[in-house]
Amino acid sequence: RIVLGIESSCDETGVGIVRIRHDGTLELLADEVASSVEEHARFGGVVPEVASRAHLEAMLPTMHRALGAAGVALKDVHSIAVTAGPGLAGALLVGVSAAKAYAAALGKPLYGVNHLAGHVAADTLEHGPLPSPCLALLVSGGHSSLLLVEDLAGKITEIGATVDDAAGEAYDKVARVLDLPYPGGPPIDKLAKQGNGCAIAFPRGLTGSRDAKYDFSFSGLKTAVARWVERCERSGEQVPVADVAASFQEAVADVLTAKAVRAAKDLGVDTLVISGGVAANSRLSALAAQRCEAAGIHLRVPRPRLCTDNGAMIAAVGAHLVAAGAEPSGLELATDPGLPVSTVQIV
Ligand code: ATP
Ligand code: MG
Ligand code: FE
Repeated sequence: RIVLGIESSCDETGVGIVRIRHDGTLELLADEVASSVEEHARFGGVVPEVASRAHLEAMLPTMHRALGAAGVALKDVHSIAVTAGPGLAGALLVGVSAAKAYAAALGKPLYGVNHLAGHVAADTLEHGPLPSPCLALLVSGGHSSLLLVEDLAGKITEIGATVDDAAGEAYDKVARVLDLPYPGGPPIDKLAKQGNGCAIAFPRGLTGSRDAKYDFSFSGLKTAVARWVERCERSGEQVPVADVAASFQEAVADVLTAKAVRAAKDLGVDTLVISGGVAANSRLSALAAQRCEAAGIHLRVPRPRLCTDNGAMIAAVGAHLVAAGAEPSGLELATDPGLPVSTVQIV
């Protein structure tokens, strides 16, 4: 059975196609993404109206490229999955409208799925089925959460989350302070390689807190970096940008991995999956590998291409729902910009 996935929650228009093999594992047939990130770069963040219009223009060409790359005809598609939330309201509407049109015209079942479950499911396209339970560290532009995943097709529980900025958001804001381009993750990651991560002791948010042992806070860190840079500039010193980038990156990777490993130990879970755009960070994956090995935890991180937004991860959630025998969502499917991660499918 072949499942087609459509993603349009933020600034990436994605269409992915996966096949459910006889043994239940997934085969990735196509993963086409069109991004409007360059149109947002000069604003330093995603402009919702610009993103919606870009989705509208990119949807059909991306669909055709995916079908062509997979060598699949629309009549061979078994069902259609689409991101129904969370995300930007107008952007989500374009993808859901397109998915409904295909589902109605072809008479195929439609599944409205959760974008965050998609980030976790992306890993199954590279490393196979996830053991149950496993722990997921979801770190993206809008979220930083620890999730207990018992079943990708239904049972995901958030055990911790950021109380303010997401990790990716902190990267984007710190990049602006350092005059680096948007989005900030890739340039900071690159610059940090030339700096010393121990040069500046930036704060590790919420690490001493007992009530928030699995929660994160990155807004204090972002402010500390801004203050540090301001102080350098005021005293006429040259800002050691590589050291600032490396020390900021170290603070983020330190807190994320420390809390993820602690949660895995506390809950007796032996597998940790890291996903979302920030999972592409080189220091985060290196430190996670080191700490997981020391703690006897099996670490899984999908390749960077599958970490950032794409349609294949949405097709993967759809495939898990189809395989689990879930009821389709129906053509009245509504979007939910604030959809909680515990709701894997909108029915
Ligand atoms: P959400 O999934 O929460 O709705 P989103 O879809 O916008 O948010 P993603 O596309 O998953 O988020 O991730 C984008 C974020 O990942 C950006 O903030 C970007 O700076 C960050 N990022 C990308 N590459 C790296 C990297 N190498 N290091 C750190 N951060 C990175
Ligand atoms: Mg994006
Ligand atoms: Fe995302």
